[in-house]
Amino acid sequence: MFGKILIANRGEIALRVLRACKELGIATVAVHSTADADAMHVKLADESVCIGPPTAKDSYLNIPNLLAACEITGADAVHPGYGFLAENARFAEILIDHGVQFIGPKPEHIRIMGDKIEAKRTAKKLGIPCVPGSEGGVSSDEEARKVAAEIGFPVLVKAAAGGGGRGMKVARSAEELASALYTARSEARNAFGDDSVYLEKYLSTPRHIEIQVLGDGRGNAVHLGERDCSLQRRHQKVWEEAPSPTITPEQRAEIGETVASAMREMKYLGAGTVEFLYEQGRFYFIEMNTRIQVEHPVTEAITGIDLINEQIRVAAGEPLDITQDDIVLKGHAIEVRVNAEHPRTFRPSPGKVTNWHVPGGPGVRVDSAVYQGYSIPPFYDSLAGKLIVTARTRAECLMRLRRALDEFVVDGIETTLPLFRELVHNDDIIRGAYDIHWLEHFLAEGEPGS
Ligand code: ADP
Repeated sequence: MFGKILIANRGEIALRVLRACKELGIATVAVHSTADADAMHVKLADESVCIGPPTAKDSYLNIPNLLAACEITGADAVHPGYGFLAENARFAEILIDHGVQFIGPKPEHIRIMGDKIEAKRTAKKLGIPCVPGSEGGVSSDEEARKVAAEIGFPVLVKAAAGGGGRGMKVARSAEELASALYTARSEARNAFGDDSVYLEKYLSTPRHIEIQVLGDGRGNAVHLGERDCSLQRRHQKVWEEAPSPTITPEQRAEIGETVASAMREMKYLGAGTVEFLYEQGRFYFIEMNTRIQVEHPVTEAITGIDLINEQIRVAAGEPLDITQDDIVLKGHAIEVRVNAEHPRTFRPSPGKVTNWHVPGGPGVRVDSAVYQGYSIPPFYDSLAGKLIVTARTRAECLMRLRRALDEFVVDGIETTLPLFRELVHNDDIIRGAYDIHWLEHFLAEGEPGS
């Protein structure tokens, strides 16, 4: 087992990793930018190192400084959290070359899944169902027209290097295709420096359902059921739940086993998430995230498994000691993302938190690095905290979420809490009847309080 782990992140996920390390008896090193000197993860770690100025490019993404921090502190492993360098294969390789373990998948798997065309090709080869579309990239407009005619309109033009919903354009007819290709290519070139694109059938009313996996890199892998993350705004998840209100135990077992056996074949190491769109009873692979995800606590809540602890143990070379039969889903969990943003316009609202009172009681978990008097800096993402509630049934979980939201008090900044206080009373939400477009429609139509 590791003696000391450097946490190459900030905010709630840095704290989450720190907690897992403490429970495993592992010493911790926090790194921080000059803007984060007063941050909670710095206060709670055994040691801390300043790695640069506020801009992420110069601090949390600064590989030479992170390496130096490992060397100074004698850390023998790095946990990257999510975002920043978590899916940077080169970073993983550099660490390994310097004798520091990367707590995450093998670099070659990070690289494959980071290229969406390659990821899809790999998924298909491993027997995972994919969205119908082009075999690999489309190099000419003519080829794209041919593929579109085969799969039928509407189609989605997607960037191979895409992320965060960028470089994606819908074409509803042959006339729209040329301009969709042009826009997607130029957006991708600007954002990612790579203009390769591919074509997919555009699904009109899917849900977003993802499967959590864990592997030990030696061919043992399990799935931990699904999370339903259909409530999204601009392709960003705002509310996640497990299990999905839609799928049956038989469907879960089937897709779960398909994914787990693919991971066994790959000899996948660590935690990962295979994301699907789900429409009319069928699953369609869209991408795989080779890291821990923001919404991992809902899975922890219904499986009782500490995912960060497992990530650390398998990275240290221990075999997976859970079998598929050990994983029994119990109850229902919902997570809402409390962002420092205006609840309607989603304009970021950094600044000083003058009052921060979190809910408690049975089945309530709050993961956050915010404290009263803390100033949320404007340089990073706006996630201020995550509220996760667990109960025996979905109906009880919604009741619990309502009362937990009522207890939550945040002053000094705007948050997305008022939006969730509306959503918990909405009939579609109560029935679990929503697809990936539902929230955008709701936001376009509804007024606060209506
Ligand atoms: P990114 O890496 O940019 O997040 P994804 O491939 O994960 O891109 O897709 C992000 C979101 O875009 C999905 O959650 C879904 O809302 C939408 N999307 C992706 N592919 C399709 C598709 N074929 N049909 C309809 N919507 C899609």
